[in-house]
Amino acid sequence: MKSTKILIIYDFDWSLSDKDSDHHVFEKFGVDTTHYSDEHHSWVTFVNECLFEIYQKGISPPQFSTLFNDFPISESMVRAIKFAKEKGADLYIISDGNTFFLDLAMSKHDIKDCFTKIITHKANFHENGLIELSPVFPEGTHDCKTNSVRYGTTCSIHMCKGIKVSELKTSEYGKTIYIGDGKNDFCAACKLKSDDLLLVRKGRALAKILEDDMSQISAEVQYWTDASEVLARFQKELS
Ligand SMILES: [Mg+2]
Ligand SMILES: [Zn+2]
Repeated sequence: MKSTKILIIYDFDWSLSDKDSDHHVFEKFGVDTTHYSDEHHSWVTFVNECLFEIYQKGISPPQFSTLFNDFPISESMVRAIKFAKEKGADLYIISDGNTFFLDLAMSKHDIKDCFTKIITHKANFHENGLIELSPVFPEGTHDCKTNSVRYGTTCSIHMCKGIKVSELKTSEYGKTIYIGDGKNDFCAACKLKSDDLLLVRKGRALAKILEDDMSQISAEVQYWTDASEVLARFQKELS
């Protein structure tokens, strides 16, 4: 008999949250991110450069603690996560953010414990106060070639969410629900099967990729704008 257990995998920035956690920090500390280009940088390499700039400004890790007080995560999304956990789903996050910012961003919502595992770049704290990320995939450890019409290769050298989704999608689960918005969620979306569900935030890069080309997508796709739509779909799937 097919399992009825549900696996829920979240992207963090602009999927679970309503803002990008890295940009939130750089904005607060006045770090200029306009020179970022993903042709020259992986996101992790760029964030490490920005963290070095913050360190050079004399800002130390404790000064990050209140930064996320105004970071937006909607009430409905918090309810959706807690509801899914209560109903026995297994929840994961796969994020190109980092352990430090995600912990801070989630702290006041009491949702971190709902997740079995948070797969994201690890923030390391050096004695001198510098924060430095070590990537989920060190350079040269994956060779994903997932390609989209609009953006070309969608995975960076330091992150392939598709590999992680394939590892998590064991036969224990009857259905996988993936919530994403970005270019780097496309590879994960391609790994979903016809019984699975892809919840795509409207108006962002993943939605644009899918607008051009659905040929690599097998899962049902539902577009959403407000987190209450995600909550409603969880209620339907998990009642
Ligand atoms: Mg995102
Ligand atoms: Zn990939």
